[in-house]
Amino acid sequence: MNVHDSEKVVGTLIQEGYQQVQTVDQADLILYNTCSIRDKAEQKVFHRLADFKKLQAKGKKFGVLGCVAQQEGEKIFERAPHVSLVCGSASYNKLPEMLVQLEGKLGETAREIPRARGESEALPDDGSVLTSAPNARGPVLGPRDLVRITGLDDRQTDKCFETEFTARTNPHRGYITIIEGCDKFCAYCVVPFTRGKERSRASESVLNEARQMADLGYTEIQLLGQNVNSYCDPAETKSFAELLVAVGEVPGIRRVRFTTSHPRDFGRDIVCAIDAVPALCDHVHLPVQSGSTRILDAMQRLYNREQYLERISWMKSAKREISITTDVIVGFPGETDADFAETLDLLEQVGYDSVFSFKYSPRPNTPALGLEDAIPEAEKSRRLEILMAKQREIQVARYKKYIGTECEVMVEGHNDAREQWIGRTSHNKTLNFTAPESGSLAIGSYVNVLVTGSFPNSLLGKMVV
Ligand code: SAM
Ligand code: SF4
Repeated sequence: MNVHDSEKVVGTLIQEGYQQVQTVDQADLILYNTCSIRDKAEQKVFHRLADFKKLQAKGKKFGVLGCVAQQEGEKIFERAPHVSLVCGSASYNKLPEMLVQLEGKLGETAREIPRARGESEALPDDGSVLTSAPNARGPVLGPRDLVRITGLDDRQTDKCFETEFTARTNPHRGYITIIEGCDKFCAYCVVPFTRGKERSRASESVLNEARQMADLGYTEIQLLGQNVNSYCDPAETKSFAELLVAVGEVPGIRRVRFTTSHPRDFGRDIVCAIDAVPALCDHVHLPVQSGSTRILDAMQRLYNREQYLERISWMKSAKREISITTDVIVGFPGETDADFAETLDLLEQVGYDSVFSFKYSPRPNTPALGLEDAIPEAEKSRRLEILMAKQREIQVARYKKYIGTECEVMVEGHNDAREQWIGRTSHNKTLNFTAPESGSLAIGSYVNVLVTGSFPNSLLGKMVV
């Protein structure tokens, strides 16, 4: 979601006359998009900001966007005084206006920068957005003035960041946000505080964007939301499953993915939609967090182990095999060995194709901060290792089953060193394959591949001609 937010920010700023550049050296203004989901992510932000400080002498200006901006607000100016702008994720609409203010305040002593209007370029993968200053409005970016511009919204905001100027970085596969924010308030999570209340986009607006993308040659769309399946069409026209079907039926769209689904709102109609519409990918990411009902309860997850497994059984009885992936948190306060054993047992029972596993990280403002029985870091690490080893075994067995089958892949790239093409299956697995020497494959095209080998995280194959 942050990657896509950055694409929207870049698109919006290019429209305003800014130019995205490739290196920090070329940039006059560095906007750093941030995540605060775990403490480690947040610490990384402050380390990176500290690294940026030495660039201040070169006249560069800095802004912090995203969840750390929303969470820490003006405190960022105290910890990183070289930052001039702080803009939370619910305030991106105000960003062009905030930059005008920034330029205005810096204007008097600024140097003149040539007018530039640029094309979108690939985003750096660390989420930073680098833009050189606009010049439509004259001088910008003065020397060392202490200028502080803030854009923060409260949780009740009902604004969505919709823009027709998205600088998508991949010409074949693109994201569309359909719902922002979260009303679930899991006991450990900052998202409801940093991204505001749940608000959905009108289905017609989503479909228009999907049609425009298809016209531009996109063949894969990924629908996004913190809880994508809690989607609630403000026009009351379509349920989430109906929206999935409608996007899957847009002419030219061959693949539709959606992430992340919340188990409480995961209805059987989603499985029926996947069965009915071939363009809907046969992959569902359904975070469980824990296999113990006692811990799920303490986490305020709004479902129990049995209800979660019921949803899994719906997917397992689908006509197509649906690949299932999940998120797990280990070491939530009060998690006993028995609770953890239930999580390991659940991994076995479901047979996930991939698990994103995290050590519980205490976050500001969250109810879990007040819970007793914190699990020591060393024990969290021990449980994480056990869980990862178990999941690796499960994946080795699961991936092996694909050997001998034929899969359609979207061609994503070429590994020159290995002389292999890189493809992605509808199940969202990486399938590296060889193709006949003559002729090169187009990135973004679809080919059929026979699976000949497997690893814990990828498949190996050869193109079917
Ligand atoms: N809305 C999705 C859901 O409820 O499943 C998850 C979105 S959250 C941005 C992504 C993942 O981060 C969560 O599924 C959870 O596993 C992990 N996460 C969130 N808060 C965490 C915390 N305080 N400590 C460790 N992991 C956390
Ligand atoms: Fe965080 Fe829970 Fe909302 Fe997911 S559902 S974003 S984990 S509060």
